[in-house]
Amino acid sequence: MANKIDVGVLGATGMVGQQFIARLANHPWFNVCWLAASERSEGKPYADAAPWRLATPMPDAVRSKTVEACEPGRGPAVVFSALDAKAADVLEAEFAAAGHVVLSNARTFRMDPLVPLLIPEVNADHLALLSEQKSTKGWKGAIVTNPNCATVVLAMALAPLRQFGINKVCVTTMQAVSGAGYPGVASLDILGNIIPFIGGGEEEKIETETLKILGADGGRSRLNAVISAQVNRVPVIDGHTMTVSVELESKPDIGAVADAMRAFRGKPQELRLPTAPNPALNVMTEANRPQPRLDADLGGGMTVSIGRIRSCPVLTHKFVALGHNTIRGAAGASVLNAELMKAEGLL
Ligand code: NAP
Repeated sequence: MANKIDVGVLGATGMVGQQFIARLANHPWFNVCWLAASERSEGKPYADAAPWRLATPMPDAVRSKTVEACEPGRGPAVVFSALDAKAADVLEAEFAAAGHVVLSNARTFRMDPLVPLLIPEVNADHLALLSEQKSTKGWKGAIVTNPNCATVVLAMALAPLRQFGINKVCVTTMQAVSGAGYPGVASLDILGNIIPFIGGGEEEKIETETLKILGADGGRSRLNAVISAQVNRVPVIDGHTMTVSVELESKPDIGAVADAMRAFRGKPQELRLPTAPNPALNVMTEANRPQPRLDADLGGGMTVSIGRIRSCPVLTHKFVALGHNTIRGAAGASVLNAELMKAEGLL
């Protein structure tokens, strides 16, 4: 594509902001031309402002770029937001009002009935909310969100099971430390330990966001199911793992569940979007997989891995699911949302 779309990154210096920089570095459709963060970073070259924590080197193109203030109207029309939740509460709506399309990672607008909570493989049709969003909110731009980093893994695993009728879900997560940003959880708290709590309403996010994503009418008609989530922070760097028990109305056999997950694909795969994973769900048969260290990076971090599909004596089925939290659960999710919007003529 000769003319790339200029994009900016709000919160470019943080954990998710860095993933945006890495994922957009050689993107065929998008060109990062504007970096913004807090007063702490404003005016500094990116290399001095960002405590780079990724295994891949910082792209040369951004090293000397000056980090600017998050001032609405200043950056390009399309901005990815990796803002800290408190900053996002204020700034994202201001950017949308000023005419930017904001692709957000923050929780602020996820449950707003006029804001798509998008997973392109699962609910691409929820983008239909955008025209009503524009007219009701009076924004010249728009906001599209991606789910919480654990929610996206659960929602992708459950999406192909909707055909069997999902009644109840119990999920227990084992979430990586990178999910808490940088510096995040203190090493003395997490090394050799498990913390059975994640602040910021993590369990409620998983329980409510999943029902919106799997719902109809842009998520305003929620999936008619009940979800119970228990979350744990574990000493893993990247990759959220979860054990899931589900009650499926039609009680399909195990093979039918595995086949439905294997066959799962959506618009990103049909349209061959640049960062679409193939497969979207990787159904593993080894007894001891998926594991975060071995499987989180599959599909460039965009594939969700599933394993140990078996029957559950309490509900009907159970399995393990794993996804990369800062890629599929954050920056990679936003970039895929932007690719879908571009392909659908919405950028
Ligand atoms: P982080 O490492 O703490 O980074 C926060 C970013 O926000 C930094 O760039 C920071 O800039 C900027 N910021 C903070 N206050 C600001 C202000 N008042 N004005 C402008 N910029 C400000 O956090 P993170 O883990 O990358 O998470 C970013 C967002 O993504 C959060 O909303 C989080 O909930 C969400 N999220 C994170 C994950 C994950 O796995 N980590 C997954 C899904 C969603 P300075 O460096 O200048 O302070």
